[in-house]
Amino acid sequence: MAAGSAPEARGLMDEQTFLDNFNNLIYRHKTYLCYETERMQDDLWIPLDDTRASCRTRSLMDEQTFLDNFNNLIYVHKTYLCYETERMQDDLSIPLDEYKGFLQNEGADKGSKRRHAESIFLGDIPSWNLDTELRYRVTCFISWSPCATCADELTKFLRENRHVNLRIFAARIYERSQGYEAGLRKLKAAGAEVAIMSLQEFEYCWKNFVDHQQDEDKPFPRWDNLDSEYERLTKELEGILQNQED
Ligand SMILES: [Zn+2]
Repeated sequence: MAAGSAPEARGLMDEQTFLDNFNNLIYRHKTYLCYETERMQDDLWIPLDDTRASCRTRSLMDEQTFLDNFNNLIYVHKTYLCYETERMQDDLSIPLDEYKGFLQNEGADKGSKRRHAESIFLGDIPSWNLDTELRYRVTCFISWSPCATCADELTKFLRENRHVNLRIFAARIYERSQGYEAGLRKLKAAGAEVAIMSLQEFEYCWKNFVDHQQDEDKPFPRWDNLDSEYERLTKELEGILQNQED
């Protein structure tokens, strides 16, 4: 299952939640997991009821999380990354829904090592076991463009995985990392498409990565100056990518 935000664990599931989510005839965006544990002793299995629960892993983001983090006019400390994968065959692109989801960076506040979203994402890809004989296109929508270190990691990944094409759409340009401009140029040189998220990408993510509960058709609530900021950032990115300094 795709990485998502922290699972909500509780003892028993609603009747309707079970029926809605485990029906083997219905396509659902969510994934539920029930688990139980037994202790083995000689030939006996002893149920450990305190370890029995259900949890929901989410592959869709809350509306507010998306709006707070992808707004191209606001400075946010976190980074969110939505991704999807297609298999490319002749002129067709076949979506692979099992390799679609979102994740966020891990801050030092969790007591664990800081990890950037791109680094976590790259760490997940080997477990997909993509067939090196086939061609894939991975698209990432990231709230911040990659820092110099992540751009280097992504570049290395592309050089070692020629069967994968990468497209990156960033909501904002991350400028607080030394060498980020050269990093973005290296990414482009390695074959990645790097662009700024326009209204079209915001609407696409809203439709494909955000949980609208009951209202599937809820329109994307665009903010003032979205387009002018997109245009400003696109000019800035073009300037970075065209620079011949390195
Ligand atoms: Zn980074």
